[in-house]
Amino acid sequence: MHGRRAAAPGPVRLQPRRSGPTRAAHSSPRAGSRAPLSPQAPEPRAPRRAHTGVLRPAFSAVAMTFVGSMMIATSVPALAVTASDPEHRASVYAPVADDSISLRPQALEVASEAELRPLTTDGYAVEAAPPPIVSQVAGLGSVAVIESDLIVWPVSNPEKRASGFGPREAPCSGCSTYHDGVDFNPGNGAPVMSIADGVVVLATENGGGLGVNVEVQHNIGGELITSSYAHMQYGSLAVSEGQRVSAGQQLGLVGSTGQSTGSHLHLEMFGADGVRFDGFAWLSTHVS
Ligand SMILES: [Zn+2]
Repeated sequence: MHGRRAAAPGPVRLQPRRSGPTRAAHSSPRAGSRAPLSPQAPEPRAPRRAHTGVLRPAFSAVAMTFVGSMMIATSVPALAVTASDPEHRASVYAPVADDSISLRPQALEVASEAELRPLTTDGYAVEAAPPPIVSQVAGLGSVAVIESDLIVWPVSNPEKRASGFGPREAPCSGCSTYHDGVDFNPGNGAPVMSIADGVVVLATENGGGLGVNVEVQHNIGGELITSSYAHMQYGSLAVSEGQRVSAGQQLGLVGSTGQSTGSHLHLEMFGADGVRFDGFAWLSTHVS
């Protein structure tokens, strides 16, 4: 390594004066690193330079050669030299290419960061929207149900309820002893709203015991869940089959159509298996 530096021929060829190259060739890296960088720095020569104008060019050449060789020895970045003295470019570049310091792959850190940044931003943007659930609905075919991130109550005053979910005494002859849904009592004519974003898969005025009935399919966290709204008023249907609705969007008005003893909303909820579960309990924990 020491021999390689001393043998660097650049300064010898480029400088016209004889004294400079000799000093440069024999100056060791240690001596160079201790010496000051400025041409004015060598103390004994500064006064001579001030008094004698003739010596000035010679001194400058010596000084510049000394500085140039020192930069090689101390591995100052090539740009620092080329900016002030383009003549030394050839002699500076060769040793720097051999220098062990330049082996540190600084560029890799920048490159990996630059690659990661677009990947994260673009990746999250694309993967933020989960794939829709595709369900097969009679009369509608394949329905893509997009995930809903908002869940709301189906009426504005859900605390007013009559019959809860589960076993009960049949409220009428022919009424079930097991209540498949939850009865809300917001009052006749109150708006009935979809509990989440979804697709209307049933909207009929002839729902049998359910009367005027709407069914909406939802994608809740990747799970297909259906909500069914029964006993609404004739002529109050605000949606049609196949229509996409938002959470809170009005579906109809509370009524008493079908097998009903009074105005109320009968809400049923079930998963892909069709098994009914307690919609009130579910909403209590899921409403946003
Ligand atoms: Zn009911």
